[in-house]
Amino acid sequence: MNSFLKIHERYRTEGMDTRHIRHEQVAALVNKLPAPFSVTTLGQSVENRAIYGIRAGSGATRVLLWSQMHGDESTATRTLFDLFRFLSASDEYDETRRFLLAQLSLLFIPMLNPDGAEHFRRENAWGIDINRDARQLATPEGAILHRQTIAFQPYFSFNLHDQESYYSAGRSPVPATIAFLAPPPDPQESLTDNRRRAMQLIVSLHRELQQVIPGGVAKWSDDYEPRAFGEWSQAQNSATILIESGGYYNDPERNFVRRLHFGVLLEALRMIASKSYVAEPVEPYFAIPYNRENGLFDTLRRKQTLTANGVSYTTDVGLRKGETFFGDFETCGELKGEG
Ligand SMILES: [Zn+2]
Repeated sequence: MNSFLKIHERYRTEGMDTRHIRHEQVAALVNKLPAPFSVTTLGQSVENRAIYGIRAGSGATRVLLWSQMHGDESTATRTLFDLFRFLSASDEYDETRRFLLAQLSLLFIPMLNPDGAEHFRRENAWGIDINRDARQLATPEGAILHRQTIAFQPYFSFNLHDQESYYSAGRSPVPATIAFLAPPPDPQESLTDNRRRAMQLIVSLHRELQQVIPGGVAKWSDDYEPRAFGEWSQAQNSATILIESGGYYNDPERNFVRRLHFGVLLEALRMIASKSYVAEPVEPYFAIPYNRENGLFDTLRRKQTLTANGVSYTTDVGLRKGETFFGDFETCGELKGEG
């Protein structure tokens, strides 16, 4: 993974260095994607923005990756466009990309929620959380993902999100910069073959990530949420992996995490193509710490004396700037753990 992180800068897509990216940027990039990519319009969002399917590779193992079903979670979309640049380049990594494209058939759906992206909010234009629409299919965006999954029958699926900057990895003071989940396919949280595969791949990626962000990896709770696409996809026998980009020091626009995500996805594809994950035990998956809310603050001041209604008291005060911002976020870097 480290070698992929080192070369990310070479493939970094211009104009995508802030969290608020727009559909028109995606459309412009998609329309000039070179070989080996082929592009189709899969359908339209509520506000008539095109949702694209981008294919590459001719291998027997099908892998589906979708990003930004939550409109204000753009990191993975930006990473996917960097990945497209990597896959279409020609340099000393030709052997790697030839191998990936020979072993894998890739289907990418970047920016599944372009209306949410435009308005920089989680839900679609009707205010529906697409990730709670896997059964009802009330939204055109959810229906597109559902239809593509059934038609493509992916062996692996990647559900790519962003999470809050203030989650820590378990009880440690370290931010959860990457979080995983192998969602359960049913209320019994069965360990099906495909879910086991997802866990094995996560175990491999987790080990690699520890070299780069020691202690900075968490996982989501595996409580069954039947309306979520991860759970639904796992129930379709696709090994489904949720990856969340999270917070890191001095990274308010998530460009460090974008680079990390580039390494994670490329490494994941290499592991799938080479089947290197198949010998992994699943037990280490269960040892990954959970995301912990309320773990981190921008500033934490101990034993402050405050006064309310004429009465003084002493307390610890944690301050957060929040996630919704554009540009002015200079002190965000000092994520402090309460331990
Ligand atoms: Zn999300």
